[in-house]
Amino acid sequence: MKILRVALDVPLDTLFDYSSGEAGDVPPGARVLVSFGRRKMVGVVAEITEHSDLPPERIKPVLRVYDDAPLAGEILRLLRFCADYYHHPLGEVVLNALPVALRQAKAAAPARAECYRLTAAGEAIGDSELPARAAVKRKLLQALKLAGTLTRAEIAALSPRALPAVKDFVASGWAEEGGLTDPAPAAVPASPPPPLTPAQDQAVSAILSQPGRFQVWLLHGITGSGKTEVYLRVIGQILQNGGQVLVLVPEINLTPQLEGRFRARFPHLAQVSLHSRLSAGERLRNWRLAQSGRARIVLGTRLALFTPLPGLALIVVDEEHDGSFKQQDGLRYSARDMAVARGKQAGVPVILGSATPALESWYNARSDRYRLLELPDRAVAAAVLPAIRCIDTGRERLADGLSEPLIAALRACLERGEQSLVFINRRGFAPVMRCGQCGWISTCHRCSSRLVVHLRDRRLRCHHCGHESRIPPACPDCGNADLAPIGQGTQRLEETLAGLFPAARILRVDRDSARRKEALPAMLERIHAAEVDIVVGTQLLAKGHDFKNLTLVGVVNADGALYSADFRASERLFAQLMQVAGRAGRDVLPGEVLIQTQFPTHPLFQALIRHDYAGFAQSLLAERRQAGFPPFCHQALLRAEAGQLDTALAFLKKARAVAPADFDVTLFDPVPAQMARLAGKERAHLLVQAASRSVLQAFVGKWDQALTGLGGNVRWALDIDPLEF
Ligand code: ADP
Ligand code: ZN
Ligand code: ZN
Repeated sequence: MKILRVALDVPLDTLFDYSSGEAGDVPPGARVLVSFGRRKMVGVVAEITEHSDLPPERIKPVLRVYDDAPLAGEILRLLRFCADYYHHPLGEVVLNALPVALRQAKAAAPARAECYRLTAAGEAIGDSELPARAAVKRKLLQALKLAGTLTRAEIAALSPRALPAVKDFVASGWAEEGGLTDPAPAAVPASPPPPLTPAQDQAVSAILSQPGRFQVWLLHGITGSGKTEVYLRVIGQILQNGGQVLVLVPEINLTPQLEGRFRARFPHLAQVSLHSRLSAGERLRNWRLAQSGRARIVLGTRLALFTPLPGLALIVVDEEHDGSFKQQDGLRYSARDMAVARGKQAGVPVILGSATPALESWYNARSDRYRLLELPDRAVAAAVLPAIRCIDTGRERLADGLSEPLIAALRACLERGEQSLVFINRRGFAPVMRCGQCGWISTCHRCSSRLVVHLRDRRLRCHHCGHESRIPPACPDCGNADLAPIGQGTQRLEETLAGLFPAARILRVDRDSARRKEALPAMLERIHAAEVDIVVGTQLLAKGHDFKNLTLVGVVNADGALYSADFRASERLFAQLMQVAGRAGRDVLPGEVLIQTQFPTHPLFQALIRHDYAGFAQSLLAERRQAGFPPFCHQALLRAEAGQLDTALAFLKKARAVAPADFDVTLFDPVPAQMARLAGKERAHLLVQAASRSVLQAFVGKWDQALTGLGGNVRWALDIDPLEF
């Protein structure tokens, strides 16, 4: 009898044995329905064996085998590697890789047509042949003629009555169900690619010189150097021989513009995107197109990494340094690192692209584990890097957060009819409310953080846990009625600028103004259309966007991270400022960047002024080597969370006591997390370091077992290669 070892979405690190029953041959990776306790659950067959430790009478047959074989060999291997590496239950890892619709026990409904297209008979119908009152049918007919194939979702979006109408079309023989069809070739011709710059050409040739094998290429190119063009060229060549390409981006907001560039270049290739903003139906459809090999380009955020791709031929990770590639809860994986693991397993090249690579990646390139490719100049011949200057706020007086030189530069920019961006990484009106009498400040009672002033809605908000309250009419401690917002936020800056430049068109771009689903694309559109003179924006705007008329960037208040306790803070600040600065002068107009700081001579700013990533990375690496931080060691963090800090710390002390001996690892003392209190929970952690990754892995594997059952009412989790402390 064949035993199916089934992965289930339960927090137990084991597989569960079932027999195939009457199902006969079941392939590994198959989705099955099983009874588990009193429930019915969907699971995935992870292994098939001959023996079970259970007595035969306790082995139940699977209730049902779905025939969509979702997780064929390659991806199952990756998921297993991921579960092992992050010490996370395999069942949770495997089931999380499936779209929600496939995780549920209700009968799968793949029979429903997903797309429709016109038949020859339908194509032949003129608009006037439909009666004028059949407006929905007319609209549908026109849309199908234009698009070739429409999905259910697209049809439903035309009108609530469009889905019944398309069924009428099918009944009349005018339309047919397309199932999972490739998108019809677009009518627009592919835009001709620009001739490559010599540096781009070298990069493309290098990567294409060994297409069919694993190699990580670190593409280090300054902002605007044409990294995307390198991806496009390599992809175009590789896909000529069939196959699929996976492209990962850190942020959902970057997908539309990249999708657009890919579609314009490869209108004949089916492309799908995968990210959390899709509906469950869209996600399932796109996932199936990828899994069946039909989608040739799969573009998505970190969750797209676990999509089965039978023809995988290349992986691209854009902005590889970005922290969003690391998931911060549940399975705390790094999609960048797992992309490299996937490339290795599949034997395909991996391109990691960035203007400011993660120090880990840079170090790997320097030590020849990765191959380094450099794009040192901007791709548009006339575009030069912006001139970066620091404004010493120790000397200049600030009026509502703005220095005179920055105000003058903004004025000059306005007079030239060009756009400027004022960057500040704090949304809201002001970071905190303060009482001048007794020193009370607005703090969140659930977190170790301050409540941000949102003056427009007269509210105080915690940006960590979401708690909000009214702005109190008087100080809660001393009754003083004269409370003042302290410091700058995007809203206050917007107000100040409006006062200084009443004729300027000012647009604020932050999470608050972009809350609606369509708001950000619409705002970007307005900037592109030159309907905006001054943009006040947070990091939401810092990445990837290419505004041709933007020539001035002002950075307000970037000093917070300079002397942070987090050893990665300066690496992040440098990357962020480089990104922001990169928004200026991307086309023929020269750009200028002004940074207001109290520390103009700080090495970070000095390197930034020279546009010297390599030099800065070198000095950071020297610091890290001396301090014994990553990449010169490997880290794991045991995180604990409880109602009381003492409870969490006591658990960590116990955990330290049961740590297996005989491993060459360093265990630090339990300490409160940098943000000790979050959403009413107290958090602490214990750091483990080792010089060798495999020693650390072996240690954590044993430790993990020893920790089982030790938690009591403490929630704990292991975080391998942690980024946040
Ligand atoms: P990056 O991804 O490195 O920031 P992009 O690929 O977005 O850079 O390129 C920046 C700009 O340069 C874009 O407007 C792009 O169309 C243009 N560009 C890229 N490569 C070339 C080239 N070889 N010749 C002319 N323009 C180019
Ligand atoms: Zn007071
Ligand atoms: Zn809070």
